[in-house]
Amino acid sequence: MTTYDVVVIGAGPVGENVADRVVQDGLTAAIVERELVGGECSYWACMPTKALLRSGAALRAARQVPGAREAVTGEFDVAAVLHRRDSFASNWNDEGQVSWLDSVGVPLFRGHGRIAGDRVVEVTAADGTTTTLTARHAVVVATGSGALVPDIEGLRDAKPWTSRETVAAKEVPARLVVIGGGVVASEMATAFSQLGSSVTMLARDGVLHLNEPFVGEHVTASLRDKGVSVRIGAEAASVKRNDDGTVSVTLTDGEQIEADELLVAIGRTPNTQDLGLENIGLTPGAWLTVDDTMRVDGVDGWLYAAGDVNRRVLLTHQGKYQARAVGDVIVARAKGEPVDDAPWGRHAATADERAVPQVVFTDPEVAAVGLTAAKAEEAGLRIRVVDYDLAATAGSSLHAEGYQGHARMVVDEDRTVIVGFTLVGPDVAEMLHAATIAVAGEVPLDRLWHAVPAFPTVSEVWLRLLEAYGR
Ligand SMILES: Cc1cc2nc3c(=O)[nH]c(=O)nc-3n(C[C@H](O)[C@H](O)[C@H](O)COP(=O)(O)OP(=O)(O)OC[C@H]3O[C@@H](n4cnc5c(N)ncnc54)[C@H](O)[C@@H]3O)c2cc1C
Repeated sequence: MTTYDVVVIGAGPVGENVADRVVQDGLTAAIVERELVGGECSYWACMPTKALLRSGAALRAARQVPGAREAVTGEFDVAAVLHRRDSFASNWNDEGQVSWLDSVGVPLFRGHGRIAGDRVVEVTAADGTTTTLTARHAVVVATGSGALVPDIEGLRDAKPWTSRETVAAKEVPARLVVIGGGVVASEMATAFSQLGSSVTMLARDGVLHLNEPFVGEHVTASLRDKGVSVRIGAEAASVKRNDDGTVSVTLTDGEQIEADELLVAIGRTPNTQDLGLENIGLTPGAWLTVDDTMRVDGVDGWLYAAGDVNRRVLLTHQGKYQARAVGDVIVARAKGEPVDDAPWGRHAATADERAVPQVVFTDPEVAAVGLTAAKAEEAGLRIRVVDYDLAATAGSSLHAEGYQGHARMVVDEDRTVIVGFTLVGPDVAEMLHAATIAVAGEVPLDRLWHAVPAFPTVSEVWLRLLEAYGR
């Protein structure tokens, strides 16, 4: 069979979820994948990075509690960490996810997918054979993104590590230079310093600078405590791979830094270069712009783009959220049912703009949802910012000796609802969902007084923030 109701290009987390969703509702779907079913997240991003970071975090947690601290007697076992990372990347084998596709009734076409015309996708397999798939209702592009390598003199020739090589590294370089100060750069600087690398981070724009300012301050201080050389404002001018395999990075001020490996983590580029976009009047290599139901602008209603490739939010959970909306809206349109694309409607990915949760698994962790104070002001909201020292809760002093952290809530004064919430501190990741519910649910502050945090937990910060805001 080569005609399906829906053809999905890209079997990352987002493509898999779209296909599953439409099949559950009675349509047929096929999925096209050129590498591993499961995508970046499963093999080179979310899962293996967090496996690399978790052992160091567990060790830190034990060392911060007397009694447990004394029980930590051995050395950090790098080989065991890498081994655990391999298992969380399923040893780069997608058999498990292929059988899942099989179990939900979605046929897999292995190969490179290209849009050949309206509702037509051509798949070129590794042996050069091609299959043409036709979609009755929709084609969904879920091809994700790749690492962006900037035009720095000598950089491409130096064959730097991107997130992929870093995440899958078999050995830990003695000296690692990281170009970038964002999430991937900060997490990998944390992981590799725990694994024993001497890390230099060239954070031209600062560390985690898109977050609330106190986030970068906490994470920078902690990275420096771990021995990472964090160079804020430093910019690489040129890079050279030397004959002995080492790399030399020359900064714009002329300083030279020597290292054994170089990671470039400055951003992402969409996987749309070789997707046949020119055949339907779109620009190859560009991000795909979409409406709130993920329908691609400039195409006659049959093309959707979800996940990283539409640039709305480059996070797995948010891409999967889009996938649920896309799957449901394709089914609704195919069956002639009403489309609910009003804000917070079933078919609109409204949370993409207002309630995106993100955890950065540095040490300390960062957990944030919604708008920063700066972004809220930029959006024209009349806000009040309420801050609280996370270390001042009873729960945090029990949790760890020397606990340091901070919380901020951003309140929309016209509606008295929270539009942004940020936490930085040890193990705050699991506290985030309460804030996500408050932001997405637009829970009035008056009602939040009735959401009583248990004593003695770090979550008591919610009560302290309400008290600081006042009744
Ligand atoms: C180092 C790192 C760590 C991250 N950590 C986290 C995290 O902790 N939490 C989180 O939420 N997000 C994290 N992310 C982001 C997350 O990985 C992405 O948001 C997510 O993978 C996007 O899913 P996707 O399905 O849109 O794309 P992808 O996962 O990139 O999947 C796209 C798939 O499409 C395939 N493909 C592309 N083009 C074609 C084609 N023409 N034909 C056939 N197949 C094609 C690709 O091979 C790939 O399998 C991280 C990213 C990086 C780089």
